[in-house]
Amino acid sequence: SYRKGGYHAVRVGDSFAGGRYIAQRKLGWGEFSTVWLAYDCRSSTYVALKIQKSAPQFAQAALHEIEVLSSVADGDPSNSKYVVRLVDQFKHTGPNGQHLCMVLEFLGDSLLRLIKYNRYKGLDLNKVKKICKCILIGLDYLHRELGIIHTDLKPENILLISTIDPSKDPIKSDLVPILEKPEGNPNGGITINIIEKKLKRRARRAVARISGRQDSIGGVGRSPKVERCLDGIDMRCKVVDFGNACWENKPLAEEIQTRQYRSPEVILRSGYSFSADMWSFACIAIELATGEMMFSPKAGQGYTEDEDHLALMMELLGKMPRKIAIGGASSKDYFDRHGDLKNIRRLKYCSLDRLLVNKYKFSDIDARELAEFLCPLLDFAPEKRPTAQQCLQHPWLNTMDVTQKAVKSEPNLQKVDVGMSKLQIKVGK
Ligand code: ATP
Ligand code: MG
Ligand code: MG
Repeated sequence: SYRKGGYHAVRVGDSFAGGRYIAQRKLGWGEFSTVWLAYDCRSSTYVALKIQKSAPQFAQAALHEIEVLSSVADGDPSNSKYVVRLVDQFKHTGPNGQHLCMVLEFLGDSLLRLIKYNRYKGLDLNKVKKICKCILIGLDYLHRELGIIHTDLKPENILLISTIDPSKDPIKSDLVPILEKPEGNPNGGITINIIEKKLKRRARRAVARISGRQDSIGGVGRSPKVERCLDGIDMRCKVVDFGNACWENKPLAEEIQTRQYRSPEVILRSGYSFSADMWSFACIAIELATGEMMFSPKAGQGYTEDEDHLALMMELLGKMPRKIAIGGASSKDYFDRHGDLKNIRRLKYCSLDRLLVNKYKFSDIDARELAEFLCPLLDFAPEKRPTAQQCLQHPWLNTMDVTQKAVKSEPNLQKVDVGMSKLQIKVGK
């Protein structure tokens, strides 16, 4: 893909936008772009540089992404809505053509890495609640204030951010959480390796060297270990990746969302709206809590991946109402006229709260509460799903589970279900 029309090859130390940005290390990539950590010499901060492939269809897609990101930034001048901020944009000409570049605020690792580095065990429910709150504030902003549907919500597209209050510690406030492999951590938990002050000084030195010898610039690399147990850190995150986002009245594509996070109305081609994001949100929340994807459909003998997906949904959520099942443009591919799947006849029903108890060993009360919060979001009727604004009012998000804390610090204590008398405390904003 590093050819004409494709990616732009970047080396550590390369400069962009007339020397303003210096590439430091690769952060990620997608089908359309590579993303690099870069040092912004003008503001003396780190930024993420998303460099698009150069062919016209990729440039077109980047222009759309920039348009969405610009309206996201314009509507949130104080940058408090838990969505990534576009800082700048420019064109960069290289051997493979002209590449549109987006400069984004630099964020930490994704929730996918967080799940991975927690060894797919599922996070403490208090952390899940905090993460959910951030995502919902972001979604409420996108949906209600901007009329934008994200359409590709998944753990990979939610990135951790610093929890340090800039008014209290301006130097550390632009540090971001980078997850280290758990093996090296004597505490057995996740450690956070933070890009810190020292790294910033090194970057400045590197920048200073540029004017002299272009080839002597090393990457600033990782900071010396500043490790902290994740348990002590407040979890916050932001929604990223607006490449597939659209305005509700201007859908871009019929098929949206990454498979595992795809809503039934998209599979059935019944039309979609903001509530499709709410379905994906519920899938993410369950994945954070259990460590496993809620739906991972596979094609089998005599049935497609889509049909398996619909079957998995019904096994968890009950039979799809006939009207909904047969109401989509693609319904005939999967359902007969009675609203039964054509090729998968026997379903093994298991409700979400039972699944949480039996498979994931949740206490009865934790399972019940989580299921009560999430099941309405997994309604087959999209218009019945609560909005992000309504979710934010839900008691599950606004109570902190104290019993869990006690279990964590006292490993000999059994986690006991104390039923209705479980201690819950209100958390402030
Ligand atoms: P493509 O559009 O090319 O298919 P994509 O849409 O998945 O790719 P993004 O999700 O925006 O592109 O970025 C790809 C990856 O780069 C992310 O999953 C993340 O690891 C990293 N990344 C993106 N933006 C940032 C950022 N602001 N800070 C830190 N890392 C980022
Ligand atoms: Mg992405
Ligand atoms: Mg994208």
